[in-house]
Amino acid sequence: MTQKKPQAKNSVPIKKSSIPFYKDGLQFECQGSGKCCTSRGGYGYVYLTLKDRKRMAAHFELTLTEFTKQYCGKHNGHFMLKERSGHEGGGDCRFLKEKRCSVYEARPEQCRTWPFWPEVLNAKTWSQEVASFCPGVGKGKVHSYEEIKAVADSLKGWLKD
Ligand code: SF4
Repeated sequence: MTQKKPQAKNSVPIKKSSIPFYKDGLQFECQGSGKCCTSRGGYGYVYLTLKDRKRMAAHFELTLTEFTKQYCGKHNGHFMLKERSGHEGGGDCRFLKEKRCSVYEARPEQCRTWPFWPEVLNAKTWSQEVASFCPGVGKGKVHSYEEIKAVADSLKGWLKD
């Protein structure tokens, strides 16, 4: 289902060549399948910003150092959650309990912004990887182009801290 997007009077027209496939919005609502919390190749890691680590440390009533030592590893110079198996790669998220996120309120930015990540927001990846994998695609609310773009833009350079 798509939604016709009203054009605001003073909005800047989008060039035809740069019109993204999600110009009319995308329908998505998390179905709680937990599928995005399991390792699957390149999408297996849950990276953490400093803000994420601080939020999660507070959730567990730990200091930032304690939380980082206990729950974090590093990949390509970025902090990430250690996986359940205790090694980097291979395992599911350690906070996935019976297909549910056990730290939902404190979950990292990466989890909050799925599936509107810049690297999956192209027609091919969306249809071949996201829509065929995630049961939330095509369900619930239609997110507008502006909403999706704002999420994707917020992730540009998000791991800098
Ligand atoms: S923190 Fe929660 S939402 Fe994120 S991958 Fe782990 S279980 Fe899933």
